[in-house]
Amino acid sequence: MRGGARRGSSLSKLGLFRDGAVLLRDGLIAAVGPRTEVEALPEAKAAEKLDVGGRVVLPGFVDAHTHLVHAASRAEEYELRIQGASYEEIARKGGGILNSVKKLRAATSEALKGRALAALKTFVAHGTTTIEAKSGYGLDVASELKVLQLHQELAAQQPVEIVSTFLGAHVVPADFRKGGDGAGKYLRLLTEKMIPEVAAAGLAEYCDVFCERGAFTVAQTKRVLEAGRRYGMVPRMHAEQLSRTGGTQLAVKLEAASCDHLERVNRADIRALGKSKTVAGLLPGCDFHLGLKRYAPARELIEAGAIVSLATDCNPGTSPTVSMPMILSLACTQLRMTPAEAIAAATINAAYSLGRDRRIGSLEVGKQADLAVFEVEDYREIPYYFGVNTCWMAVKRGALLYSRG
Ligand SMILES: [Zn+2]
Repeated sequence: MRGGARRGSSLSKLGLFRDGAVLLRDGLIAAVGPRTEVEALPEAKAAEKLDVGGRVVLPGFVDAHTHLVHAASRAEEYELRIQGASYEEIARKGGGILNSVKKLRAATSEALKGRALAALKTFVAHGTTTIEAKSGYGLDVASELKVLQLHQELAAQQPVEIVSTFLGAHVVPADFRKGGDGAGKYLRLLTEKMIPEVAAAGLAEYCDVFCERGAFTVAQTKRVLEAGRRYGMVPRMHAEQLSRTGGTQLAVKLEAASCDHLERVNRADIRALGKSKTVAGLLPGCDFHLGLKRYAPARELIEAGAIVSLATDCNPGTSPTVSMPMILSLACTQLRMTPAEAIAAATINAAYSLGRDRRIGSLEVGKQADLAVFEVEDYREIPYYFGVNTCWMAVKRGALLYSRG
């Protein structure tokens, strides 16, 4: 997958090598291509050889949308939804994100860290070598900083690369909902205190907002993202998931790195994304877990030329999974993406959305040696087998992270 972000028909061009080889040196890719050519290189003669037995080697998955740090599952809400309550009804009764906020504020850093570390091991076991992680279950100064500090500690203490995003504008917290203009007061806290403190501590590259009915309006989203940008944080957005708000147009106007969800986009939104550098981040795990029938219009987005990416949106409320292979299965069967398109969306395009496409997301000379090996004979079998994990080995910066063999 040489050459950076993919649009349109280039999304399906993987640049596959049959009987290929990758030469790694000092954590980087030194050569890649047909095995006979790579093996003939003078440098390869002295290299330690690892035969993966005809399995499929890909760039490690880049999961560019996760809510890694959270305190507990929300399995009780899962059951309520199955019995007929909607996600928004549950949220209005103090469930949903506010439920996770209550649990996170009560949790110790140690407990949160233990849970996140366990999740990171499972991410790796599914072939993911880089993730983006959002705060947003703290929603007060101390708790948001606690989560962002955990991102930094986790990034230093284990090998999966973690890209940190501040999502203080996830919802208006319960303590701001009593009395008038709670949203206004919370926006002031976000823009005048939280964002400056997060920036001063260097704890987030990106600033994200949940632009949605019941969360933040387009005008409020704009205020938060502009404040974030003044402090050096690049915008990302959650938009058009449960309702169309017009958030996508804002994301394009603000040159957001990524605009994610997009189940409810209209034609004008699709056209705007097609012409922009803002990545269209698709999260089919949410629709699957919530039992919603309306998935994002991936085909129209691809045909319009949008830079489409895929992510788990790993979170306890709407997408409790760390499995990119499962997301690939959903992308193929529900979004009608081909296996090749889904793989490119989950690697090079996702890396682009994190501003890291020159370093990760493809197997190219000079790039970081981040690899995932799958126990299949054909790359199409990775999404084809669903609900099972075919990841056989994962490598980060040339170091073995996980191996089943
Ligand atoms: Zn999300």
